Amino acid sequence: MSQQTRSTLVLVHPNEILQALVGLKDVRVLHYQRRGPEVELMIEQVLEDVRCPRCDGRAEVKERPVVRYIDLPVYGVAIRLAWRKHRMVCNIARCDKRSFVLQDHRIAAKNCLLTTRAAKWATFQVGTGRTVKEVAGELDCDWHTVNNAVTTYGKALLVADRKRLNKTTAIGLDETSFVKLGRHTHQDFVTTVADVENHQIIDILPSRDFKDVAAWLNSQPEAWKERICFGALDMSVTYAAVYSVVLPNAAQVVNPFHAIQLANRCLDGVRRRVQTEQLGHRGRRDDPLFRARRVLLMAEEKLDQEATERLASLLALGDPGAEVAIAYRVKERLREFYRTTDPTKARLLLEDLEHHCLKRAMPPEVQKLGRTIKRWFDKLCNYHIAKVSNGPTEGMNNLIKRIKRIGFGFRNFRELPDPGLALCRQAQLAGLGLDRRPMRSRSRQNPKSHFLWVDGALLEETAGPFTAPLAQPRAL
Ligand SMILES: [Zn+2]
Repeated sequence: MSQQTRSTLVLVHPNEILQALVGLKDVRVLHYQRRGPEVELMIEQVLEDVRCPRCDGRAEVKERPVVRYIDLPVYGVAIRLAWRKHRMVCNIARCDKRSFVLQDHRIAAKNCLLTTRAAKWATFQVGTGRTVKEVAGELDCDWHTVNNAVTTYGKALLVADRKRLNKTTAIGLDETSFVKLGRHTHQDFVTTVADVENHQIIDILPSRDFKDVAAWLNSQPEAWKERICFGALDMSVTYAAVYSVVLPNAAQVVNPFHAIQLANRCLDGVRRRVQTEQLGHRGRRDDPLFRARRVLLMAEEKLDQEATERLASLLALGDPGAEVAIAYRVKERLREFYRTTDPTKARLLLEDLEHHCLKRAMPPEVQKLGRTIKRWFDKLCNYHIAKVSNGPTEGMNNLIKRIKRIGFGFRNFRELPDPGLALCRQAQLAGLGLDRRPMRSRSRQNPKSHFLWVDGALLEETAGPFTAPLAQPRAL
């Protein structure tokens, strides 16, 4: 019995409402019971002719064990699903199949404490950036219960979703510091493997060692490895070695972001040294070079007339040997290298810059930068062919932040029950475009109302015949 109101289809018969709470074919609700703050729904499967999986003989019911699962809350009330299972036994005397319990993966997976729908929902929620703790709070259950479910379902989804990596032709390796917690500041590094063309994270490895990263890459399907034409990296010798050994045919590309960062660091080093040489102390508020420190790192084209003049006068005051000015020009030249669109012209420009930096008269920091450019020359130039970079795109940065948030409570990455699995799920969802939303205002992003099958007011009205009344619906 259901009736069509003007806006929604509502159920008015209590039995139908209860049935709708489960909403599965061939699953019957036996009773509804209030247990403290929770509501328990007892269900069972509707059986027809059950056959023995081994001999196909008739099986009969031996026991009815009750297993309790955590289900999705309804109107803010925690729901426990008590599944009265069927332990069957084979009737055929000579069959060696003993008893077996009937399963239904639509209700709950084996060894999972959450119902299937609750587990899927929890996985999705964690995937969109909520913490495990938050989701566990909403389901009113233990942190580990949710984490295990997310891990299991996330893993399954990842395996099933190998397709998303089919179009990968350029990957990037990048190290990220993972957790710094506690009094004894502890730093752990993870390697992010990303599809830098399609901006997805492929995996997060709990190490930045050659052995581990190479082993992971090597374990990938051959066809996938063959498709990779470019490997992006920061200027890390380890990652370069990984590419050279495992993917010898992939051209290595240095990230522009990391190259520019290096030039900026060189400029900063020169500035600090000149400062100390000039005044005998580290930068103070009124020192010209200290005042110029931010403007120096800004892109030249972003400075207006006033800022340019200010920079020139500050340098004239604090930089008599023009060393800072030289480092500044070097940084700007490198940026020009990345702006140049013609690969040949860019190559000439970088060659020129390298020779310039290596001159004896140059400040030592600039010479060092010159040597780095020399060492990575081809890999720097490859940028103009590949046009890929795993520089921190906004989406990925967000993702890393979320991963850190989800991992909160762990002292380090290795303590995760199964390192990286919840993270993999994150990565996968990012691939689906779910991380495009801004991170603020999570409450609006994830409204608490889910599983609204029945009209709230009506449920209150018809609460009478139940063994216990439902609590007031939480404000939605
Ligand atoms: Zn049998």
